[in-house]
Amino acid sequence: MTINPLPSGSTIGILGGGQLGRMLSVAASRLGFKTHIFEPGANPPAGQVAHRITTAAYSDLEALKTFATSVDVITFEFENIPAEALDALEEIRPVLPNRKALATSQDRISEKDFLTALGLKCAPYANVETAAGLQAAVGKIGAPSILKTRRFGYDGKGQSRLKTAVDGQKAWEELGMTRCVLEGFVDFSIEVSVIGARALDGSVVCYDPGQNVHRDGILHTTTIPAELSHAQQMDAVILTGQILNALDYVGVMGVELFVTPQGLLVNEIAPRVHNSGHWTQNGCTIDQFEQHIRAISGWPLGDGQRHSDVTMTNLIGQEVNDVAALCADASVGLHLYGKAEAKPGRKMGHINKIR
Ligand code: AMP
Repeated sequence: MTINPLPSGSTIGILGGGQLGRMLSVAASRLGFKTHIFEPGANPPAGQVAHRITTAAYSDLEALKTFATSVDVITFEFENIPAEALDALEEIRPVLPNRKALATSQDRISEKDFLTALGLKCAPYANVETAAGLQAAVGKIGAPSILKTRRFGYDGKGQSRLKTAVDGQKAWEELGMTRCVLEGFVDFSIEVSVIGARALDGSVVCYDPGQNVHRDGILHTTTIPAELSHAQQMDAVILTGQILNALDYVGVMGVELFVTPQGLLVNEIAPRVHNSGHWTQNGCTIDQFEQHIRAISGWPLGDGQRHSDVTMTNLIGQEVNDVAALCADASVGLHLYGKAEAKPGRKMGHINKIR
């Protein structure tokens, strides 16, 4: 099935109606595309800026088929799309990024197996599926370490720390004794991420790595440029290209890295636009959202060049309320997601401060 290049005016289907879907939809509109959002929840942020929205569950195969028939290409804003939903969609329209990228990143073990098979470094890890497996994993990895659910983790959720080896059972119970991975605790100096893109013709473009700081398990700031040596910066970008090529990837990907004296360790990959790439909206001519839309539409990619240094800060919960203060600084670009309720821990918007 060829979609290269999709004419402006075509319709892009987006699975997921959160803020990432919203910003993808805005970018698509700027290029003259229409968007159709598929989202189980009512009144999603992306619905406010899309041409059409379908409210249905990912298990509703009829709704998925109708959605697929109404669009020209399908993409997604999150990685936990059920395999059966993909089966139904792929029969009708191309889904990009591809299934291999989704399957690899949906499960922390398959992700780490894939990365280490590529020759990249990850934290030491071991699979946990049974009580005996937990014991063996704790014996192999030791403590301090972090137990993480293999699937459905985000913003530090689905994780429990082991200070000592005896914490293993308690940590596993906290996570519902589901399938997990035990990871050795990495003594990193900083966390960085690379937002990379790969086009249908295989060309790869990466933005400069950003330096990430988390607060309460949620990304707080991303600062560009990151405090990396030239060699580390090259390494980060090259390994991102390696991952994109190995997956025959089309679209934008976020690659999270730990910087350690032993080199760069890959924490995780996200087969989608990424929170740590929001700085590109005010730091680059072509931001990550337009880059993704261009990639999946078979259009040429932007060159990823940065025209400004930027600090992106997420607005969590009530931090979004004082709009006057947020607008007072002329060097700040304000991005709000149109969410009705500012619940604690909820990402409500972000600011990009040009420095
Ligand atoms: P994750 O959900 O895997 O991205 O983890 C969320 C955050 O927890 C990361 O950004 C790190 O700050 C921290 N973290 C995760 N895994 C490790 C690890 N193996 N060692 C040290 N810190 C970690």
